[in-house]
Amino acid sequence: MSAAELLRLEMLVALGVVGAVVGSFLNVCIYRLPIGKSVVTPPSACPRCGQRLKPWHNVPIVSWILLRGRCACCHEPISVRYPLVEALNAGLWLGAGLHFGLDARTFVLLPLLSALVVLFFTDYDHQLLPDKVTLPSAAIGLAVAAWNPLLDLAPGFLGQGGVLSRLASSAAGAALGYGLFFTLAMVWQVLFARDAMGGGDLKMMLAVGAFLGLGGVLVTIFLASIVGTLLSLPYLLSGRWGMTRQLPFGCFLAPAAAITAFWGNQLISWYVGLLMLA
Ligand SMILES: [Zn+2]
Repeated sequence: MSAAELLRLEMLVALGVVGAVVGSFLNVCIYRLPIGKSVVTPPSACPRCGQRLKPWHNVPIVSWILLRGRCACCHEPISVRYPLVEALNAGLWLGAGLHFGLDARTFVLLPLLSALVVLFFTDYDHQLLPDKVTLPSAAIGLAVAAWNPLLDLAPGFLGQGGVLSRLASSAAGAALGYGLFFTLAMVWQVLFARDAMGGGDLKMMLAVGAFLGLGGVLVTIFLASIVGTLLSLPYLLSGRWGMTRQLPFGCFLAPAAAITAFWGNQLISWYVGLLMLA
């Protein structure tokens, strides 16, 4: 193995390990943000016996396995969700490193991928997409736009590669994401006389658009409608959800945006290719 290959391997391992550690913090965000608690203090404790977690109880994934999924003090079961979120974030970060290589695209994407993990679970648990996640994510997306090659639209559109074109694509993506959902919410309100979504979905699309641009917003919404239909049908058909139930759109948008981040530009190129043939 050459020195360059070894360095690449080391960096990928580091990406996965740091991803798991950040995943541990995401668990705290998922649990505390929707109930308005600080994500910094107090330190994590067992919800049953109040025992503070010792540093060696806080090693991502490993501790949960060593403790066999129970509190070290009172043996209350600890949800398997915790190591899964850590593994999920580690997997997404490592996946980005493997997919894009260790360059700008990977590092620009990491905050978005982690924000999507938090938003998926807070929406699933509480039907909430906290402003403390969506708004800073949108700001970060705009701030890193100049280094974000994902904002270069598929070949043939609006030129590509320049800093200004990336900034424009980021701002336009954010505006389109917000605007489309705002319109959809208005239409829904007129048709069904009730709110389809909380404002959280709009702000989530603001962030997705800032990272993925105009094309990315459209692909995300397209994929989310497929994910949403597949996931909702069993519930709707079984009558457990009425049509007017507030749908957890964030749970559909999060995986859709992640897929778009990885393969969106290929999907756009492929689709444009189809149109050219027709
Ligand atoms: Zn305990």
